[in-house]
Amino acid sequence: MTADNRPSSSPEQEQFLRVLSREEAIAAFRRALKPKPLGAEEVMLKDLLGRVLAADVMAPVDTPPFDRSVVDGFAVRSDDLQQASQSAPTRLTLNPETIACGTVPEITVKPQTATYVATGGPVPRGADAVVMIEHTNPVESNAIAVDRAVSPGQNIAFAGSDIARGQILLHKGAVIGALEIGMLAAVGKASAKVWRKPRVAVLSTGSELVEPGAPLAPAGIYDSNGPIIAAALEENNCMALRQPALPDDAAQLAQAVRAAFDASDAVILSGGTSKGAGDLTYRIVAQLGKPGIIVHGVALKPGKPLCLAVCDGKPVVVLPGFPTSAMFTFHDIVAPILRIMAGLPARQESDVEALVPVRVASELGRAEFVMVGLSQGPQGIVAHPVGKGSGAVTAFSQADGFFAIGPMSDSLAAGSTVTVRLLTNRLRFPELVIMGSHCVGLDAVVSMLIEQGMSVRILALGSLGGLAALKRGECDIAPIHLLEPETNVYNLSFLSEDMRLIEGWRRMQGLMFRPGDKRFEGKTPEQAVAAALADPDCIMVNRNQGAGTRVLIDRLLDGARPPGYWNQPRSHNAVAASVAQRRADWGVAIKQVADELQLSFTPLAEEHYDFAVRKGPRNAQALATFEAMLSKAEPRLEAMGFRRQ
Ligand code: AMP
Ligand code: MG
Repeated sequence: MTADNRPSSSPEQEQFLRVLSREEAIAAFRRALKPKPLGAEEVMLKDLLGRVLAADVMAPVDTPPFDRSVVDGFAVRSDDLQQASQSAPTRLTLNPETIACGTVPEITVKPQTATYVATGGPVPRGADAVVMIEHTNPVESNAIAVDRAVSPGQNIAFAGSDIARGQILLHKGAVIGALEIGMLAAVGKASAKVWRKPRVAVLSTGSELVEPGAPLAPAGIYDSNGPIIAAALEENNCMALRQPALPDDAAQLAQAVRAAFDASDAVILSGGTSKGAGDLTYRIVAQLGKPGIIVHGVALKPGKPLCLAVCDGKPVVVLPGFPTSAMFTFHDIVAPILRIMAGLPARQESDVEALVPVRVASELGRAEFVMVGLSQGPQGIVAHPVGKGSGAVTAFSQADGFFAIGPMSDSLAAGSTVTVRLLTNRLRFPELVIMGSHCVGLDAVVSMLIEQGMSVRILALGSLGGLAALKRGECDIAPIHLLEPETNVYNLSFLSEDMRLIEGWRRMQGLMFRPGDKRFEGKTPEQAVAAALADPDCIMVNRNQGAGTRVLIDRLLDGARPPGYWNQPRSHNAVAASVAQRRADWGVAIKQVADELQLSFTPLAEEHYDFAVRKGPRNAQALATFEAMLSKAEPRLEAMGFRRQ
C-alpha cells in the first residue's frame, strides 16, 4: 500500500486494505478530487427551474422603466391642490388626452390642468402626483373638482424604484424557482448563466440483477440501486446516465466502465466491492486513471465496502451492493461532493431529538446508522428502529430518519436520547399509529381509512414489540396474534390491566406443500407429518420461537426434530417461499400466502389476529373510526379469506 492509502492492484495486497473512519475517508477523497463546479452554460427561461446561477444577474433596465401611476385617476401638479378639501374642492381643466397602459403621453400637464391616467399608465410631463378618481367629481364636460390635497409623488411608482438598472437582481448560487424566473422575465432576460449539470454514469453490477419490469429469473434480484441512485442524482442537480445492470464479467465490465467514464463527469457503480469471486469492479476502477483508488473500506455500517477513486480528475465511486448501504453511503459521502460539482449549496439538514425505547446492538469499530420511524410518545418524540439489515429496501419506506451509534459503542441502551437526522423535509405525526404484527388484511382496513382522509402509519415491530410500544404509550393500536400454549387462548392473557382487545379476524393456518406431493396430498395434518418423518429426504421449514405458529408445529411434531427444524424464519411469507422454491418440502403458514404461491394447503387451526388498545386511548376519536371501519371492511376481509367473528 502506498503512503496515501492507495492499494496497488496486486491480489496479495488487496487482502490488506486499510479501513478508514468516515471522516478520514471524506477528507482523503476531497483532498484528491478538489471538487468544484464544472463550468457555466446559458439556459433559456423555460428550462431554468431548479438550476443554480453561475454568476450574479444584473438588471439591464430599470423596473418600472418609466414613472407610472399605481391607481386609476388624474395626473396633477400637487401644488394646485394645496387648498383642496371636501367643503372647497379645487377645479382643474382636463387635458384632451387619456392615458392607458401603453399610451405615450403627449400633452404637458400645465398649472390648473389634469390628465386622466389608468393604473400602469405613464405619468405625463409636468405632473408630479396622481389623484385617485374616487376623490374627484366631473364638472361640465372638460373639468373635474378635486376634494383633497395630494403630496408630491403620491400614487406614482418611479422609474427604477423596484429594480434599478445595474443593481444585482439575483446572486450567484441562487437556486432558480418560479419567483426567480419571474424576476428574470421582469427585466427582460430570456436566459441565464447556470452551472452545467454534472453528467453522472450509473452502473449496477451483478450477474443476478434483473431490470425492473422484466420477469424475475430464479435466484434473480431486481436492480434497485440503479433507479434509486439515478433519482437521487436528479434530486441533486446531476444528470443521471443509467443503463441496465452489467454482469460480473471482467471484459464486459471493463469495456462498459471505460465507455461510461469517457462519456461522463463522474461514475457511480454499485456492487462488486467485497472480495468474492465475482467482485471485479474495483480492479477495473483501479486502472481507469490517476491517482486511482483513494479509499476502499470505510468503518461505516451499513456501507463498509465503499470504494472511492479519483481518475484523471473525475470521481469514480463504487457503492456497496446492498441497497440500504448504497443509499447511505451515497447520501453521506458522495452527494455532498456532487453538489459542489453541480454548484449547489450544502443540503439543509434537519435534526430532532428523540428517545429510543429499546436497546440497539451495534458493531464495535464501525459507525452504525440506525433507521427509525418516529412517533409521539408521552414524553416527546420516540424513535423506533425499523432497520432489517443492509439488504432491506423497505426500511427506507418506513423510516422518517436515522441516527448514528459511534464506532466506540457496542450498543445503545434502552431509553437513550439520540439526534435523528430527518429523511423527510417536514415531520408530521399521523392521527393513528399502528405498531405490531403485520397482516395483508390490515393493509385493506388501513387503505379504507386513508381513502376516508385519515393519516395512518403502520410500523411492523412484531406482536411483542407492538405490545411493548402500546404499554409505553407510543402507539394507538398493537395488532397481535399470540397463543398461550397452556390455555390454547389467543391474545387475551398478553394484555396488561390498562389494555383491552378489539376483535380482529381469524386466519386459517395449515400445512403447505407443493401440489402433487404424494407424501401429503389428501392426508390429515397428522398423517402428513407422519409421512414426512418417515422419509429421511423430506425437509421441513419451521418458525421462530415465540410465534403462535411455532406452537402448532411443535405440537404436530411431538418432540421430533426432522431435517430443516432449525431453519426458523420469522414470517408466513418466508415459509411459503421456502416450500415454493424447493428449499423445503413442507411448513405451516396462513392460507393466503399458500394461495399466493399456488401451494397446496391442508387446514390445521385458526389463528386469532386481534388489536390491543389502551383503555384510555391517546386518540379516542381515531380509534372509534378504526373500530367502525373494521365492520365496514368485513366483506373485503371475508373475500380475502379472513373470518370475522
Ligand atoms: P455485492 O456488493 O455485489 O457483493 O452485492 C451485495 C448484495 O447486494 C448482494 O446480495 C446483491 O445481490 C445485492 N445487490 C447488488 N447490487 C444490487 C442492486 N443494484 N440492486 C439490488 N441489490 C443489489
Ligand atoms: Mg455482486
